[in-house]
Amino acid sequence: MLVRGFQKYDNFVFDLDGTIWYWDKLIPGVKEAIEYLKKIGKNVFYLTNNTVFGPGGFAKKLCSLGLDTDVSKVTCASEFILFYLKENNIKNVFVIGENGLKDFLKGNGIVVTENPDCVVIAQEVEPDEEAMRTAIEMISRGIPAIGSARGRAWHMGDIFKTGVGVTIEKIEEATGKKVKIVGKPSQLSIDYVRSKYKFNPEKTILFGDELTSDIVFANRSGWDSAFVLTGRDKIEQVEEMKEEDKPDFILESLNEILE
Ligand SMILES: [Mg+2]
Repeated sequence: MLVRGFQKYDNFVFDLDGTIWYWDKLIPGVKEAIEYLKKIGKNVFYLTNNTVFGPGGFAKKLCSLGLDTDVSKVTCASEFILFYLKENNIKNVFVIGENGLKDFLKGNGIVVTENPDCVVIAQEVEPDEEAMRTAIEMISRGIPAIGSARGRAWHMGDIFKTGVGVTIEKIEEATGKKVKIVGKPSQLSIDYVRSKYKFNPEKTILFGDELTSDIVFANRSGWDSAFVLTGRDKIEQVEEMKEEDKPDFILESLNEILE
């Protein structure tokens, strides 16, 4: 059975890192919860600030870990980046990020080049010092920069990796320029998801492990929100948040939605 408080929702939206998986393995209890939601006819979606792949790559990875889904159910920050570039008629970009993002952008008409109109700073598995130096030089010259997220750390299996937020902070420090963030909880990400899915906000809930990205995104979208304690943020941090940014639910783990 679904715990009573969760029965009213139709759309269950899940962050990935620290909520669904530690990259290579599912978090205990996740599979049972997701399978049950699908069995009773709820809609399950995934929404991540990760950019290691495009949405198709994340869908494939979810399937390979035993969560059957398809690309239409997955939204990632690679899409927010593409949306920003298209909205602003930017075709040529320099990218700090993984090949999965570069391929996704190229496949959608963007040119990845050393002579860009915009610098894109996204998640890397290993920091590329040379790309960072190049980006600093470009941004110092006045080329604008966008970034995927301010996340400071993420789990890859048992290893804790530096998040893209750390790279962005270093670049801002070095150049004295501000990087525009397009991932959750930016207004751009809210607008993108709203037009992509047209959810009824009152029937939608997001589960996430990061208060300032996931939970704030949900609240500003008019959705309900559940903070899961399987990731980086700690329960004490909730007290420091503004009242309107606080989560509606706090869960030790996702399987607490079942009884
Ligand atoms: Mg997360």
